[in-house]
Amino acid sequence: MPALVLRCTARSDVGGRENNEDALFGSSRLVAVADGVGGAAGGEVASGLAIQALVALDKRRLEAPLEDELRQAVQAGNDTVGFVTAVRPELAGMATTLTAIALSDDGHYLIANIGDSRAYLLRAGRLQRLTRDGSLVQALVDRGALTEAQARLHPHRSVVLSALDGAADKEVALQQVQARVGDRLLLCSDGLSDVIEDAAIAIQLAEPDRERCAAALVEAALLAGGRDNISVLIADVSSGEDADPAWPPAL
Ligand code: CA
Repeated sequence: MPALVLRCTARSDVGGRENNEDALFGSSRLVAVADGVGGAAGGEVASGLAIQALVALDKRRLEAPLEDELRQAVQAGNDTVGFVTAVRPELAGMATTLTAIALSDDGHYLIANIGDSRAYLLRAGRLQRLTRDGSLVQALVDRGALTEAQARLHPHRSVVLSALDGAADKEVALQQVQARVGDRLLLCSDGLSDVIEDAAIAIQLAEPDRERCAAALVEAALLAGGRDNISVLIADVSSGEDADPAWPPAL
């Protein structure tokens, strides 16, 4: 089977905020978005640390199965948030969401999701959500106490139930989905998904040009009155020209 590769475009806009607390990363085999919260510079620091842990994974050879390495990278990001909080008390309480997808050599998406940033898959014109929000409103929707439309307007819609906050022994559940050439992935912070419905996201994602598509999504969120930071990462899946595995093992 030919190796699959990701071709990425990312955009982030400060929106109506003073700082941008979102962080993004994309390579040919790994994509991620993090949305930080916290006083002082805490939000930016937390999301940056979570993304740096994944960049570190992307820069080296695997010593264990990708699944284990991805889980460990997420845990390492969490542990660093804890360590930095301990040495810089002004950052106490900082935390971040993290949604990451690694493309495995056997053609799967390995998906890690903590908090309410999202991953979507556009396949053959149909949009599906790959992640489930770790948020209060999602829990209420699951229980039938709120509709999706009510959740979007709920005053506590930004309350997350899971985050990388430095707490010890963070459990990281991974999900696996078969990848296909022609797939398009969208990772985004809630600055997009809070103000743009899935049906509208699907329409925007039909634009083949990634740059234009990413710009249009951010623009749509701004026009919809988005007050939060808005971040999108679009990754198209194609077959790699060379036969090298995406994740060469350690020698
Ligand atoms: Ca946000």
